[in-house]
Amino acid sequence: MTPRRPTRQIVLGDSRTGLVRVGGGARSARFPNASPTATPEDGGPAPVSVQTMTAGYTHDIDACVAEIHKLTAAGADVVRVAVPEKKDTAALPEILNQTTVPIVADVHFHYKRALEAVEAGVHKIRLNPGNIQDREQVIQVIEACKQANNGNGIPIRVGVNEGSIIERKDKQARAKELGAYFSDQKHGYMLAIMIAKLEEYLDIFDDAGFDDIAISAKSMDATLVIDAYTEISKRFEYPLHLGVTHAGPKETGCIRSVFALGTLLANGVGDTIRISYASDPVYEVEDGLELLWSLGLRERKGAELIACPTCGRIQVDLFTLTQDVRKKLADEIRVPMKVAVMGCVVNGPGEAEGADVAVN
Ligand code: SF4
Repeated sequence: MTPRRPTRQIVLGDSRTGLVRVGGGARSARFPNASPTATPEDGGPAPVSVQTMTAGYTHDIDACVAEIHKLTAAGADVVRVAVPEKKDTAALPEILNQTTVPIVADVHFHYKRALEAVEAGVHKIRLNPGNIQDREQVIQVIEACKQANNGNGIPIRVGVNEGSIIERKDKQARAKELGAYFSDQKHGYMLAIMIAKLEEYLDIFDDAGFDDIAISAKSMDATLVIDAYTEISKRFEYPLHLGVTHAGPKETGCIRSVFALGTLLANGVGDTIRISYASDPVYEVEDGLELLWSLGLRERKGAELIACPTCGRIQVDLFTLTQDVRKKLADEIRVPMKVAVMGCVVNGPGEAEGADVAVN
């Protein structure tokens, strides 16, 4: 594991939700000399946080609140909601009233949704440089975010997505123009387009004197995600939100996401993660946490289950037993412990030796 790359810290939340600090250590005027072992409050590294996104309509307040509660109970640190229409931003004050986790408004196409979401009191805004490009509109959102939270400000994520980064009609010309920069890399031209777009967009933030920023650069291609974030981590000191977008159903999306995000995190890159599935977002939270626990980037809460794959020596219905034990542990155990479920006496006792509890 490469040590975590230091980045600025951004803070989400308030006294009601609690604060979530995002960033890999101090790179700010406030904590110029913070050591890597300092607490997040003193500018030390904040834990990598797990984000997810609600799957239902935000304007359906009861359903949205219920989904946010479910995701919070699963361990989500931050929850993002889509606000495509005015009725969605209109629902935000009541949603914020009934929830206790920092809420991010995901804004595309209409900068006014961002202004409305800030007014409603969200804890962070996500803007997509691919579809909100007008400089004056972006500046209006930045100024609103500066004034939000009683003048303390709220952060903005600049979220580049491969799919919306460039209008299709411009794609080939732009690819030709920029491709040479990264011609030695598999995704050279797309990488160049993503970086160029980010630089162009972040210039607006620089000019407006705003640095409470996180960056993401997602793609459905896991190898492009690794290349893009690796390149971005060398160029910008902002916290990075990692994700493979549209990764697919849980069964295959898990492989894509864990490959890309695990590689980056093991190389010290990444401050927040979202695993995205075409499935219940609770799985995104569970798998995101498991990834961070496996990498030793978060302290495990609850039980770690070890189970054998079974073979011709099996003496019990291990698959059913494993699922029963898994459910029981998830429902009832809140302290860190290792539980091993092994199928026979040949290797079982040895493999279960390091566990706190062994089922054999
Ligand atoms: S514990 Fe026994 S059943 Fe399970 S894989 Fe090992 S040898 Fe096979």
